[in-house]
Amino acid sequence: MDEITVTGGFWREYQSLNAESIIGHCLEWMERVGWIRNFDLAAAGTLGSDHAGIEFVDSEVYKLLEAMAWELGRSADEALAATYSSLVARVAAAQESDGYLHTSFGHPGQRERFSDLEWGHELYCFGHLLQAAVARLRTGHDDDLPAVARRVADMLYREFGPGGRTAVCGHPEIEPALAEFARATGDKRYFELARLFVERRGTGTLAPIEYGPEYFQDDVPVRDAEVLRGHAVRALYLAAGALDVAVDTDDVALKNAVARQWENTVARRTYITGGIGSHHRDESFGADFELPPDRAYSETCAGIASIMLSWRLLLATGEARYADHIERTLLNNVLASPRADGRAFFYTNTLHQRTAGVPPHPTDVSKRADSSMRAPWFEVSCCPTNVARTLANIPLYFATADDAGVQLHHYGDYRVDTRVGGERVALTVATDYPFDGEIAVTIHAAPLAGLRLSLRIPAWAREGATWRCADPTVTFELLEGHVAVSGACAAGTVIRLDLPVQPRLTFPDPRIDAIRGEVAVERGPLVLALESVDLPQGVTLDQVRLDTSAPLEGTAAGATAHLSVVAHGAGGEWPYGGAHTVASEALGPVSLIPYYRWANRGPSTMRVFTPIADSNSETA
Ligand SMILES: [Zn+2]
Repeated sequence: MDEITVTGGFWREYQSLNAESIIGHCLEWMERVGWIRNFDLAAAGTLGSDHAGIEFVDSEVYKLLEAMAWELGRSADEALAATYSSLVARVAAAQESDGYLHTSFGHPGQRERFSDLEWGHELYCFGHLLQAAVARLRTGHDDDLPAVARRVADMLYREFGPGGRTAVCGHPEIEPALAEFARATGDKRYFELARLFVERRGTGTLAPIEYGPEYFQDDVPVRDAEVLRGHAVRALYLAAGALDVAVDTDDVALKNAVARQWENTVARRTYITGGIGSHHRDESFGADFELPPDRAYSETCAGIASIMLSWRLLLATGEARYADHIERTLLNNVLASPRADGRAFFYTNTLHQRTAGVPPHPTDVSKRADSSMRAPWFEVSCCPTNVARTLANIPLYFATADDAGVQLHHYGDYRVDTRVGGERVALTVATDYPFDGEIAVTIHAAPLAGLRLSLRIPAWAREGATWRCADPTVTFELLEGHVAVSGACAAGTVIRLDLPVQPRLTFPDPRIDAIRGEVAVERGPLVLALESVDLPQGVTLDQVRLDTSAPLEGTAAGATAHLSVVAHGAGGEWPYGGAHTVASEALGPVSLIPYYRWANRGPSTMRVFTPIADSNSETA
């Protein structure tokens, strides 16, 4: 965390938004709705049926603690440090003598511990507690929260470890959390427990539920599955934990199984934004190519979980396609969630809003996905705190180092100060990316024997990307997904990379029936959207067609595209009929904005994919 520092620009704005708005917003709401008070009541021995919120709200407090710990690692803000310590103390006070710590089970009038592994989310909550402790350990503090987490993990090891009950939690999360906690503490027992949970999954230990065993990935053992399926967040957290287990046990078959599932899921079950999940009913994946834009569930948490999995695959393989997918998902799915002021969030991320949304009241709690605009808080409020913890550790995704050199996976204004082969490497990256493709990397310190630096070339930039350095002894080699830079790289050496970010048309696979005959516009790493507030008065989104023969023009952050308007009939009694030509009228160039920014200018309709202008295939 202290080796990569954001110095300004796009990511500094998001770090500030998180520190100044999102974290405080989540804290205020959890005080208001009583989710933190649950811990106080548990500590006082008076918690019972008056528990506030659904049974897994502890996890939101833990995700906020994780966000605060990462943020404290960056900023050492004294007021935040005091808030953090007081919140940790309230959580710690609720821990029982044997390490158990949950506000929804085991208290008078509540259900027994571990009596509802299908829906209880107990281990899911413990997983988030462990990850909050990992953030604290990784930012240099082995203090109160890690101590609480050790007692929880020891309790879990006794309960579910070797010789314990052969069971798993209905919502995966404990798996990656235990693996991370084992790495952060060096205690191998926690890793062994993660492995047991991964191996037990898919063997039918969970009781039948209405959505079937696929919902919680209990239908097939992880190593036998071909694709991610069922509840999207569950599937991805499990896959992340399985990959951790595969890497630390050198289990090539398991690693390949997870990589295969990622590949099949990205190829057939993912929206252009990186969003996943097309069933609202059970927040699950649909069948292959079942990706209706107006029914996209595309939960923010699923995008975050997808980034967690892609990140692990990138670390395990070094393959740039995983970093490409992190970038797509981060910029176009996860960043779409917070409103520009950081005080309201999308839970689901539709790609086609048919009717203008209704702004939720600022003090109302929304029914999770029911909100048609970003909402300040939800009954199930998993997404805001997940956004907070992700933005709080965002620089960790930017770069890696190994014995060979330094690898830059993402571009922004940041500084890297690390060691390669025992020698210092320091560099700064400066760019207006993602809006501009010019990237300058300045070397400040390199090993005596020279530096090897890898710069990711996103898939959309493979043709047209250029690189140069004024020092002729610095060499470049284009490899799969990145350019390898080698040279003495004396202090002051500047390496320049230019990625072509001009707007481009993107056509969907025709098997995605819901958007056949439609086209999207992307600009660099950004998916663009057409929002009704950018249309001329009197024109509606369902009338517009995109003229693919006219040039797209880049704007500061988005693009303009040539649209035409079709005249709908008066509205017949039956919306079907024979093919005939419709009249259309050119509208000229219209602005498209980055998708992640939509719905920040009041209620609107929006679409990512627009029908291609073709008068012969339409009915009036
Ligand atoms: Zn969520």
